[in-house]
Amino acid sequence: MKDRMELKTDCKTCRTHLADLLLDESYVAKHPALAVHLEGCAACRTELAELQATFAMLDDWAAPEPSPYFDSKMHVLLREAEAAKPEGFWERTRSFLLFSTGRRLRPVMAGVLALTLLAGGGGTFLGVYHPSTAVSPTVNDLKILDNNAQALQQMDQLLDDGSSSNDDGSAPPAT
Ligand SMILES: [Zn+2]
Repeated sequence: MKDRMELKTDCKTCRTHLADLLLDESYVAKHPALAVHLEGCAACRTELAELQATFAMLDDWAAPEPSPYFDSKMHVLLREAEAAKPEGFWERTRSFLLFSTGRRLRPVMAGVLALTLLAGGGGTFLGVYHPSTAVSPTVNDLKILDNNAQALQQMDQLLDDGSSSNDDGSAPPAT
């Protein structure tokens, strides 16, 4: 009774088994309902044949070998990006903070603090990953800490100005 039910399967069910049919040659023997459906359904047969043709092509296709200098070039690019990131990042952050209103600063500051932690971790990670790097990880971390201290100072000032001018509508106190 159950077997007779299983021998009737529809295209939708058949399509969900296409990957199994493709990767496991004995799958169709274990699932007679699929074999019966494929026999009677040209659309599903074509679908399976097209998938098989695609996979046969992928089997023949060989990924190109990377150039022998790929690793060295990649490490140089990583070092350059690592060295350039702090200035570019803080420059962008500062202009964003300066042109934002006080109301928007609090969530922004939380985001900046999270990014600060990521930047610190990233420097250490790259330093550990490339022990031969010209700048030592310690120097990099000290540089990042210095940048962070400056940024926090600037955010404190901006938050003071923002809250006093937004909360009671008066002008910010002269500093
Ligand atoms: Zn079908």
